[in-house]
Parts: sequence; structure tokens; C-alpha cells
Amino acid sequence: MSWPASAYLLAPLSPWFDRVRRVLPWRAADLDRPHPDPYAVLVSELMLQQTQVATVVPYFDRWMARFPTARALAEADEDSVHKAWEGLGYYRRARFLRASAAAVAERGWPADLEGLGALPGLGTYTAAAVGAIAFQWPTPALDGNAFRVLARLLALEGDPKAQANALRAWLAPALEAHGPSRITQAIMELGATVCAPTPSCGACPLAAPCGARRAGRTGEIPPTAARAKPKAASLWLVAFQAQDQVLLVAPAAKGLLAGLWRWPALEADALPSRPPGSDALLAWPGWTQVYTHRREAVSPLLVPLPAPFPPAPGHRWVPLGDLADLPLGKRDQRLRDLLARPGQPPLEAPAVEALVRACAAPSA
Ligand code: SF4
Repeated sequence: MSWPASAYLLAPLSPWFDRVRRVLPWRAADLDRPHPDPYAVLVSELMLQQTQVATVVPYFDRWMARFPTARALAEADEDSVHKAWEGLGYYRRARFLRASAAAVAERGWPADLEGLGALPGLGTYTAAAVGAIAFQWPTPALDGNAFRVLARLLALEGDPKAQANALRAWLAPALEAHGPSRITQAIMELGATVCAPTPSCGACPLAAPCGARRAGRTGEIPPTAARAKPKAASLWLVAFQAQDQVLLVAPAAKGLLAGLWRWPALEADALPSRPPGSDALLAWPGWTQVYTHRREAVSPLLVPLPAPFPPAPGHRWVPLGDLADLPLGKRDQRLRDLLARPGQPPLEAPAVEALVRACAAPSA
């Protein structure tokens, strides 16, 4: 590896960051001291995984008002934690955050990177980012943005993640020289605002030494990985309503959707046939719900019933009045919102029977 010294190459970042940095609710005013509230850094880093800054800001503010300390979060019940996270997606992060807060409330903050990395959900990047920003440890944090910036700056060939260890070793002296929190956040800011996938090199403090810019190869460094096409699915999302109760699927203990309540969702081809009468879906148009690996054509249905039926395992009747307080994923929030609108024309009896059969206990 014959890269120029990082402390020299990245020196322009510090004054640039002083000029342009955004005021963010988790960002300390003084970047050259340990952060006054490491818990706020932990919350922000978990929220920022996979989510844009603009989306995170209002969630962070509400979260800190509701759970202002690690202890307050550790003592909160799981439904209220998921409720506060509702809409941010990737709900595992909320559970990890609560579990990390419990560990910190019980044993205090870890004293080194290894201890931070052992907290639930932190991983190599987040542990290093919290170490640098909260505690001023010279622990280089490389996320997608940082890899892109460094790959271009150093004109790296191939996937920069393959050189992660070498890049961390290279970066550490710059953190020591210019301040871990300052340089870590400056790289994040540069990757988010200037060295974006389509870079604005004219506004970049690293334009002069940037290898990719000088070679005219910013469009090909780093190479973009081909994404798998999302799997297509088509489903009925059903709100059974009986005597001021609605039928929901109770949260799973594990997996991507753990902690979230859901409406019964019936894959269109799981029903013996399209429910007769379902063409009368006039009031509620469907929509397409896009996830990273899945693309769902969702048809929402309201099925009013005179009385509840014995639910299939995992399903539960809950009072309509409790619905607003239960954590739901984005797709299911949308049907909850529709319930407040004028109803659709009633479904025909055979359609209702087919739907009930799919969600009732076997003996019902
Ligand atoms: S000069 Fe352009 S490609 Fe190079 S680091 Fe700056 S924004 Fe990125």
C-alpha cells in the first residue's frame, strides 16, 4: 500500500467541515471533546443505519423526549419502544437499541472498541462510529459513504470493502491528528452531501488530490454492485372488524417483523380463488409496497362481521380503540389509516366466508 499519509491528505476536511456542517440534534457543538451524551450518539447511529438524516431528525427528537436516558429506554415496555420507532423500518434496530441501553444502564459504558462492538446490534461500523464520536477514540468508521469517498480519493480498484482493514489502518493517523469525532463526521458529511453517488467535485475540499477525479473516473469508482430484482407478490390485506374489535397477527418474537403487529395478509394465490365479490373494492384502491427484496401489490379489504370468530394461532382480536397505540409496519399503518375513511361497499357473503376460513382456527 503506497497511499499518501491520511493526516496530510485529509487535512482540508477539518476547516471545510467547520464551514459547512449541518446543525443536527445529536451533533455536539464542540467536536474536539468527548460527547456530553453518548446515549444520544448511540441512538442517532442506530437510527441512521439504512435511513436518511432528514427522516431521522424528527424521530430522534421524539425518541429523546420519550426515552431521554439509557435507563429510561431500558425500563420502557417493548410495545412503546416499537411504537416510537414506527415508520423508521428495520425494526430490529429498535430492539437492539433497547438491549444495548439495558446493558449500559446495568454495567456502564464499555471502556474500549471491543466492548462497544459486543453491545447488541452495533457491529464493526457502528461501534467505531460511537467510539469516535462519543468518546474521541481513534477508531475509523467505514460505512458505504466512507468507502465511496476513500475509494475515489485513493483511486482504488475493485470493491473498497475488500480493503477495509488496510483503509482503517491508513485512516487512524488522520483521526489522531485532526480529532476522531471531527474527521469521522466530516467524512460522513462529505459522502452524504458532496461525494454522493453522483459527486459534486467542484464543491469538494479534497478535489485537488482526488485520484478518481484526476483520472476522470468518478463514474466508475467504486464499481456499483448489481442488485437482485425484488420478488413480486400479490396479497389481500384484510381488516376483519367485529363488535369494535379488529383481528391482528400478534408480533413474532424473532425475525425481521419481530415486535410488530400486522393485519392478516393473504397471498393472492393462497386463497382457493380470488374472493368472489372482491371486484367491489371501490372505496379503497390498492397500492404497491416496495421493500429491498420484495415488491407487493397490496389490495386492502374491510370485512365487517356480526361477531368475532375463533382466530387461527398467532392471531388476536384487539379493541379498535387500542389500534393507534400498537406498533405496525409501514404497509399495515396504511390500512389502519384507511379504516378512518368512509367504508367500501360490503363484500358478498362467499368472499367473506373464504377470507374468514383463511384466518380462523381450524375447528371454527
Ligand atoms: S473530488 Fe469528487 S470524487 Fe473526489 S472525493 Fe471529492 S467529490 Fe468525491
